[in-house]
Amino acid sequence: MELKTHYDVVIIGAGAAGLMCALTAGERRRSVLLLDHAPQIGKKILISGGGRCNFTNRSVSAAHYLSNNPHFCKSALSRFTPDDFIAMVEKQDIAYHEKTLGQLFCNGSARDILNMLLRGCEAAGVQIRNTCTIKNIQHQGETTNRFILQSNLGEISSDTLVIATGGRSFPKIGASDFGYRVAQQFDLKLQPNRPGLVPLYLNAPEMKAIQGLSGISAEVIVKCRGKQFRDALLFTHKGLSGPAILQISNNWHPGDEISINLLPDINLVETIHNWQKNRAKTTLKNLLAMHLSKRLAQQWLEQTFKNKAVDQYSAKEVQAIAAHFHQWRLIPSGTAGYRVAEVTLGGVDTDMLSSKTFEVKTVPGLYFIGEVLDVTGWLGGYNFQWAWSSGYCAGELV
Ligand SMILES: Cc1cc2nc3c(=O)[nH]c(=O)nc-3n(C[C@H](O)[C@H](O)[C@H](O)COP(=O)(O)OP(=O)(O)OC[C@H]3O[C@@H](n4cnc5c(N)ncnc54)[C@H](O)[C@@H]3O)c2cc1C
Repeated sequence: MELKTHYDVVIIGAGAAGLMCALTAGERRRSVLLLDHAPQIGKKILISGGGRCNFTNRSVSAAHYLSNNPHFCKSALSRFTPDDFIAMVEKQDIAYHEKTLGQLFCNGSARDILNMLLRGCEAAGVQIRNTCTIKNIQHQGETTNRFILQSNLGEISSDTLVIATGGRSFPKIGASDFGYRVAQQFDLKLQPNRPGLVPLYLNAPEMKAIQGLSGISAEVIVKCRGKQFRDALLFTHKGLSGPAILQISNNWHPGDEISINLLPDINLVETIHNWQKNRAKTTLKNLLAMHLSKRLAQQWLEQTFKNKAVDQYSAKEVQAIAAHFHQWRLIPSGTAGYRVAEVTLGGVDTDMLSSKTFEVKTVPGLYFIGEVLDVTGWLGGYNFQWAWSSGYCAGELV
């Protein structure tokens, strides 16, 4: 379809939030143009959840999000809920399953979700253009309240403009700081960005301590800044990863200490004392290997004391060993960065927008939705739910 020169709604960023907003506005018979600079639409959806897209979570509340204003997300999450998105998925007969902790994934492929959104846009008459470079945005506020975009597709104007360009994470598939620059153009406050849901790197002494453990995982409890997560930790060549680490990375700031309990199911002091009391003959390494991988158990133990029969450890030694396993304290040297971070923390300050409409309070007709905002979810489908909820709520009003 030929491009028009004027639309009711132009949305920049055809990711999860932009697609959802476009189809919702299109269904209301608004003329909608959805623009993206990437050569392929929806690439992030396609690679999400290991290719199966963890598209939502059965249990979603404001407590699963980080933001300078923790209340901002409540309204949208309650007006477009996980059940609403699940209903869309079921209507399209997309098979899905719950993996763990309420996380819903496609049985087949993430493409099912992308196709559902693209079909929805097509049915709603939304025009989509990829490989589109926006060179300039002008706002004619005083006269007509129009937005005028200069792009490689020519000049396009709209009554409302929605910025859905996401955060800085995964630049190789199209992430950019575009949304933040637009916010600055309109004098909106930004909360500082940090990579989130990202592996953590370690300093040399800690790297030495985990040498040879790369590829081994363990169920742990990890704590930082009063927050804790219980999930799998994965040792890597450069530090720590796995869901537990990705989760805590959202709370971690440079210089913060994190504490890791490698044996969350037992009290090691009590366990060793019980074995000693019962005069059971086993080595500590074998006892530990009942709860951890053998290699990890041995390497971690030998960082404190040599492996011996359990009854040969003094009470003081038992305390030291238990502390080493239950409270591994470390200060990560940094994160793996935006290159691999699943999300970007911070962004457009939510005080600048209405939590009901997502319209900028000082610029009528300008909207920001999705990850570009200072709202970041936990791992587990929460970030897509935020994209769906904010996209839908704005789409209902633009
Ligand atoms: C590897 C990976 C796996 C993930 N898995 C999950 C998961 O399973 N579940 C979950 O809930 N979350 C997951 N996430 C997070 C989730 O993908 C994002 O939070 C969500 O996609 C944000 O939606 P959005 O529409 O706001 O931004 P995005 O999806 O990032 O979309 C932004 C769009 O804007 C476009 N854009 C950027 N700059 C410009 C510009 N200058 N001009 C035009 N267009 C531009 C981009 O090309 C992109 O298409 C994952 C993220 C990654 C990186």
